[in-house]
Amino acid sequence: MSEDFDFETRALRAGIHRSQFNEHSEALYLTSSFVFDSAAQAAARFANQEPGYVYSRFTNPTVTAFEERLAALEGAQCCVATASGMAAILATVMGLMKAGEHIIASRSIFGATVQLFSQILPKFGVETTFVSATNPAEWAQAVRPNTRLLFVETPSNPLTEISDLQALAEVARSAGAWLAVDNCFCTPALQRPLELGADLVIHSATKYLDGQGRVLGGAVLGRRELVMEGVYPFLRTAGPSMSPFNAWVILKGLETLKIRMRAHSDNALRLAQWLEAQPAVERVYYPGLPSHPQHALAMRQQETGGGIVSFVVKGGREAAWRVIDSTRMISITANLGDAKTTITHPATTTHGRISPEARAAAGIAEGLLRLAVGLESVADIQADLARGLSRLG
Ligand SMILES: *Cc1c(COP(=O)(O)O)cnc(C)c1O
Repeated sequence: MSEDFDFETRALRAGIHRSQFNEHSEALYLTSSFVFDSAAQAAARFANQEPGYVYSRFTNPTVTAFEERLAALEGAQCCVATASGMAAILATVMGLMKAGEHIIASRSIFGATVQLFSQILPKFGVETTFVSATNPAEWAQAVRPNTRLLFVETPSNPLTEISDLQALAEVARSAGAWLAVDNCFCTPALQRPLELGADLVIHSATKYLDGQGRVLGGAVLGRRELVMEGVYPFLRTAGPSMSPFNAWVILKGLETLKIRMRAHSDNALRLAQWLEAQPAVERVYYPGLPSHPQHALAMRQQETGGGIVSFVVKGGREAAWRVIDSTRMISITANLGDAKTTITHPATTTHGRISPEARAAAGIAEGLLRLAVGLESVADIQADLARGLSRLG
């Protein structure tokens, strides 16, 4: 968009290219390939000598619309869309790194990302050192001559630890490496890592960008040379591309991103405050609470506390399960970023496959519950939790 519109306006109007029919809502181009006027035009398109669409593994107008809109929201030069969040992370590593190189990653990242870095990438000669999310000095100490990528998620899942992105960008710069931030929890509505010095932003669009739990998607954003010359050639050739249908769904999700993230955050803050006052609750993790150890950093770096609240109930696993099983409205599912509130017991689900010792070291208590706060009324969410909490202790 030529004009310098505000975030809310870009969320609705960036990336629109109307067809000859002048449709108002963005068109959905469900087509695998595109037709050429002549053999010469086909040759020119394939040789990248003429702009235009060829095949939907490379580019599709609906996917392009999603990419342009998300780039406008993150303040990124370029965006490529992927089939899922994990495909975005894989494409970043495969596109930008080679055997013999090294990643430094926060210990507090998404479970499948840990698996990818620790189980799959070593087969291709890429090693990862895992360090503390909250201590930039540990990152600096882990740097090796072959370190190419620093990878972080903030706030972390499920303990909402905050990583200092400006400090990590500094570590990356002096190491000659790139800082990639998985911005899934905040979305650009609340936090824009590129403005804080990150080189790349990665998304699971499956979560808040769609916002209604419908489709999978992902994206990688950053400078042209990293995204278009680094990541995109891998996607184009290897094929973990976003489907046009999913792009269309998520494009519509982006229209309401700002008001949804504000509403998720408002509800989450009110619930976190209420949970802190419950006798059956031992501890609440929420960056928007003054009791959060990094509250000040969180409030500098992100607009609000976000939509995820974790809390520990007294009485361990049995008590935590009782709270879950006493709900009637909240969905018992590990997904997050949905308009509907979801609850999960990390120790036996998302973090169930790691050893009890590793779990304890990571701070995942048996009594810990993670709430991805939705857009229902706070009173109804509270009542649904109060039923189980009141039976504890
Ligand atoms: C869900 C998630 C992913 C993976 O995304 P998919 O779309 O499920 O592949 C990556 N990072 C974070 C923080 C997530 O929550």
